[in-house]
Amino acid sequence: MTKQEVYLDNSATTRPYPGVVRAVVEAMEEYYGNPSSLHRKGVEAGRLLSRAREAVAASLGADPGQIVFTGGGTEAINLAIKGTPPGRKGRHVITTAVEHPAVLNACAQLKEQGIEVTVLPVDGQGVVDPQQLRSALRDDTYLVSVMYVNNEVGAVQPLDEIAGVLADFRRAGHRPVWHVDAVQAYGKLPTRPGELGVDLLSVSAHKAHGPKGVGALYVAPRTRLQPLLAGGGQENGWRSGTENTPGITGFGAAAAEITRQGPEGAQRLFALKKRLVEGILAAVPGAVLNGPPCEQGNPRCAPHIANLSFPGLRGEILLHWLEGQGVYVSTGSACASRKNPGSHVLKAMGVKGEQLEGAIRFSLSALNTAEEIDYAVEQTVAAVRELYALYK
Ligand code: PLP
Repeated sequence: MTKQEVYLDNSATTRPYPGVVRAVVEAMEEYYGNPSSLHRKGVEAGRLLSRAREAVAASLGADPGQIVFTGGGTEAINLAIKGTPPGRKGRHVITTAVEHPAVLNACAQLKEQGIEVTVLPVDGQGVVDPQQLRSALRDDTYLVSVMYVNNEVGAVQPLDEIAGVLADFRRAGHRPVWHVDAVQAYGKLPTRPGELGVDLLSVSAHKAHGPKGVGALYVAPRTRLQPLLAGGGQENGWRSGTENTPGITGFGAAAAEITRQGPEGAQRLFALKKRLVEGILAAVPGAVLNGPPCEQGNPRCAPHIANLSFPGLRGEILLHWLEGQGVYVSTGSACASRKNPGSHVLKAMGVKGEQLEGAIRFSLSALNTAEEIDYAVEQTVAAVRELYALYK
């Protein structure tokens, strides 16, 4: 096959849709007013903002009034975790060992303020046991934060069972706030917080073909939240600061595309992931899939993230080799890869030694094609064979 460029690092970020780019440029060129201004330029910018809010709300099955625009997924998560008031009795928070650092480090900050944090373990596939959540809940638990899709291995957490556990806890008179980091699920799996009884849900535009530095927090009715930023009271008082109109407009365009594609997009993505995983596992003896098995109908397996280990090779070396052939992948998550070689997610799953060191993540998007996947399989198999010949 002739050399191609195949971008398979979509969990780090995605390529914006052309319609997103056009929307951002148009907002910058034509609608540069401040949405709070009273004149026509302000009103026009405000209208753009409202339209984007409606599109993002529709993609989440929510009302526009439940959407708070933020400067990305990390900020939405921080607002959820640090902005949830503990209340009179609240002293305890529960999260999981495989969360994104935005969640884990926000919880670490709560800990410094005297809040107790329980970190739930996961099984060998990266999945949390809802019964362990049930056992961890206490009278003073005021916040539970469990992600939807893990960004490193694509494990889908059992949110419906978690909703059941929390519903039982609420029936017993408790009022915990439930936050879900849905950054990696948004645009790939149905993300409808109202149907699950989620109170707060974070999403990020750039993981779903929107612009970087813009995200949203869904806030269910009657959820108490304190703003992290003091200022002019934009976004219903929850997020002060002049709105990023171009970014939000681009987010709206990406959200409209998510709504348009519906659930079919996930089936197509899953077929591509299966082709990739099966192609590599069949050709490379000893290669291992980290995370839930990639099987049709397995609800724990996300359609777009595959983490594979090639024991005896270092993930980083394979990554750069593949880069030379035009195939872009990552080791673990993009934010962890520069500083921390051992993924906290794989470690929490019990992955050790050569399997830990030899892990790379392939993450797909709606823009990938079957031909690209075949090229990536071919190049990965060839790279691994050559590297094994050199190193083993
Ligand atoms: N949560 C998860 C699961 C992620 O994968 C990421 C990004 O890698 C984030 C949160 C942070 O989102 P953002 O890059 O928009 O701050």
